[in-house]
Amino acid sequence: MQYVERVLEELKQKNPNEPEFHQAATEILNGLKPVVEKHPEYEKAALLERFVEPERVIMFRVPWVDDAGNVHVNKGYRVQFNSAIGPYKGGLRFHPSVNLSIIKFLGLEQILKNSLTGLPIGGGKGGSDFNPKGKSDNEIMKFCQSFMTELYRHIGQDTDVPAGDIGVGGREIGYLFGQYKRIRDEHVGVLTGRGLSYGGSLARTEATGYGLVYITEEALKCRGESFEGKTVVISGSGNVAIYACQKAQSLGAKVVAMYDSNGYIYDKNGIQLDVVKQIKEVERGRIKEYANRVAGAEYHEGCKGIWTIPCDIALPCATQNEIDGESARILVKNGVKYVAEGANMPTDLEGIEIFQKAGVVFLPAKAANAGGVATSALEMAQSSGRLFWTFEEVDAKLKNIMVNIYHNMDAAAKEYGCEGNYVAGANIAGFIKVANAMMAHGIV
Ligand code: NDP
Repeated sequence: MQYVERVLEELKQKNPNEPEFHQAATEILNGLKPVVEKHPEYEKAALLERFVEPERVIMFRVPWVDDAGNVHVNKGYRVQFNSAIGPYKGGLRFHPSVNLSIIKFLGLEQILKNSLTGLPIGGGKGGSDFNPKGKSDNEIMKFCQSFMTELYRHIGQDTDVPAGDIGVGGREIGYLFGQYKRIRDEHVGVLTGRGLSYGGSLARTEATGYGLVYITEEALKCRGESFEGKTVVISGSGNVAIYACQKAQSLGAKVVAMYDSNGYIYDKNGIQLDVVKQIKEVERGRIKEYANRVAGAEYHEGCKGIWTIPCDIALPCATQNEIDGESARILVKNGVKYVAEGANMPTDLEGIEIFQKAGVVFLPAKAANAGGVATSALEMAQSSGRLFWTFEEVDAKLKNIMVNIYHNMDAAAKEYGCEGNYVAGANIAGFIKVANAMMAHGIV
């Protein structure tokens, strides 16, 4: 049996009931086949076996008391996956669907994504099955304090630097940081996505969405095109979706649809982003409300229908496996030309294959949404240097990083004989640096 197949089989045996982790590992390792063929020394050093096994998995109890005095217990996770090229770095996700499989798939992806940024950051991920929806500020604070009361002993500015993800935004990072500082008596860059008054970076909030649009813009530019006049569909209406929409609109695109986990809005005149921001960021309400406030807009219950709306560019920015084979087929039939993943693993394996066969330019998450973590690393640099860069400085660095990622994965795909396959290109470009570092460190 070939090396990659053997490692995948062992991985499935050793980690049963982890379908998302299997899915991510399958996509990544299959893309790495040309690299391991070229480097037989990797198999001898069991490099892939070590690469897919987290350096450390931390699971813990998170007890907290709600406003009515009821005691709740959630599960907490931190997977410190790979520190070969820098301290573990990756977000915390608070969502009822969170389990070990999801955290491990995200952590594995994160290793390569962080490497692709060109910055010295390793891969990690964490979170909890806590559901922030419907909780009071006080309950969120209590939960975050309890979560950090365990997590603090495992993280540090040179060890592991968590950030936000689904369900963890500025408010949660504030409470988590406050508790860390209180316990450790250290005001350091141990979390990123911090508020501007206590060590955060300008442009971090916008970074993932902006970065997604910058890399797509580069892909368009290389084909003599631009966002100007293009019809765009964006799923989600959270942090990534909102800033992707803002940047795409500023470049002349017409964004016609967005969703939250209940249903989608379609506005043929172009989404009015200030209305979405008011509903989702200020009121923490449901996107359905948009159709009540904007004449001519439609609301449809359920998410999947969003992919039946014809568009030139699709930007899935909500969650994993949003686009399955069926949705991919419809998007292709309706003429989609570019799909760039703002969320992590939003397209399933069948969907990716359909896009690639149809010649759609497909930019995978680990490249396309790397702008968030890249800007987190810029936040770490500012913290260490006690510096504060302007919005324009950070934004320019972000854009430069995204353009470089595009060209690095493009070049890697060409070098390994799979031109235009950015899934393979991103995996290869990200992996080579990590593999070199792991080989240099010996068997650890
Ligand atoms: P947010 O929590 O800000 O927003 C998530 C959005 O997706 C919300 O609109 C939410 O709807 C929707 N959503 C969540 N789960 C589902 C679901 N199961 N079905 C349909 N819709 C869903 O998260 P972010 O914008 O930060 O993250 C979105 C994606 O981007 C994630 O995959 C994340 O891992 C990835 N990402 C985020 C980065 C960042 O910097 N924030 C960096 C890199 C990747 P509702 O409002 O109903 O909850």
